[in-house]
Amino acid sequence: MWVEWIQSANLIFLLFGIIFLFAASFVICMIFKALKRRWMFRWFPLPWSRVKSWECLACGECCKEFDILLGPDEHANIVKIYGEDVTRRVVNKFYLKRRSNGTCLFLYKHNRIWLCKLQHMKPRACKLYPFEVYHSPKFGNSTEAIYRYGDKEFFVYVYPMCMGLRWGKPTPEYAQKTIPEFIEIAEGLQQEQKYSTAKLFSHTQ
Ligand code: SF4
Ligand code: SF4
Repeated sequence: MWVEWIQSANLIFLLFGIIFLFAASFVICMIFKALKRRWMFRWFPLPWSRVKSWECLACGECCKEFDILLGPDEHANIVKIYGEDVTRRVVNKFYLKRRSNGTCLFLYKHNRIWLCKLQHMKPRACKLYPFEVYHSPKFGNSTEAIYRYGDKEFFVYVYPMCMGLRWGKPTPEYAQKTIPEFIEIAEGLQQEQKYSTAKLFSHTQ
């Protein structure tokens, strides 16, 4: 009788062990997938159509990560107001200066959100983040990256490290309002931001 009891107890332990292993490997796979998307491929843009929706959370992370390239007009306007010291030249290109901790000189914290002091003249590179718009496929996945706007085809990619991205099937607002606004800004057809910036704090990143 004892032998039978021990055998059935072992069987139950074995079954629980198998279930536990399956559950643990599932959880590990999910965590790995999320980390892979967020960290391993954070510098590798993905097609816009993999995103369900996007909203800037004013977390300020992008203002700590990137060198902001300035167009000639943007450089001239910023220098006119803030002086040469806020930009730096690399060969024949101008960038916004960063603090020693890597943050943009114009980033500041207000309560618990990060704001941009250049809100009235934010560089196009900042307005476009986390999206990039091209006229031809740049990072592969051209079918998923394509966006037809007007009579033109664009290829739109997104940096997966942005905290404001939600992954999945694109919502109508994201597909029909947000992406077109990013395309218009990239093409220089629009300056104002409505769908391409933080909702509560327009003009912040
Ligand atoms: S664009 Fe993304 S990373 Fe930058 S402040 Fe907004 S939510 Fe944060
Ligand atoms: S959005 Fe403003 S604070 Fe952020 S990188 Fe651009 S200029 Fe700097």
